[in-house]
Amino acid sequence: MTRPQTLADRREYLEAGLRDLACGGCDAHVLVKKGSPHQTSVQWTGRAVRQCAEFAARVALGEATPLVDTCTTLRDTIEQAARDGRLTIHEPAHEPPPGEP
Ligand SMILES: [Zn+2]
Repeated sequence: MTRPQTLADRREYLEAGLRDLACGGCDAHVLVKKGSPHQTSVQWTGRAVRQCAEFAARVALGEATPLVDTCTTLRDTIEQAARDGRLTIHEPAHEPPPGEP
């Protein structure tokens, strides 16, 4: 049984500035959204968490998964993607220019 509504929701969610990036170290796929040059949010899937060795090691040491932002290799991957232009900043709203003529 297909769930077209769920699929549409998912597509909309993916298009809201989220990019699928694979970690250069462990090849775990995460969803990355860049809101500003200094703000990046990373969404880990359960599968990516299991795949990333660094993530798994930190969890094994007792860290709670929601507190682990990213693995260091993925952070480098994200920075590289931003420099390459693969990861663009998602601007939620168009801001009018300051001061009208
Ligand atoms: Zn990783």
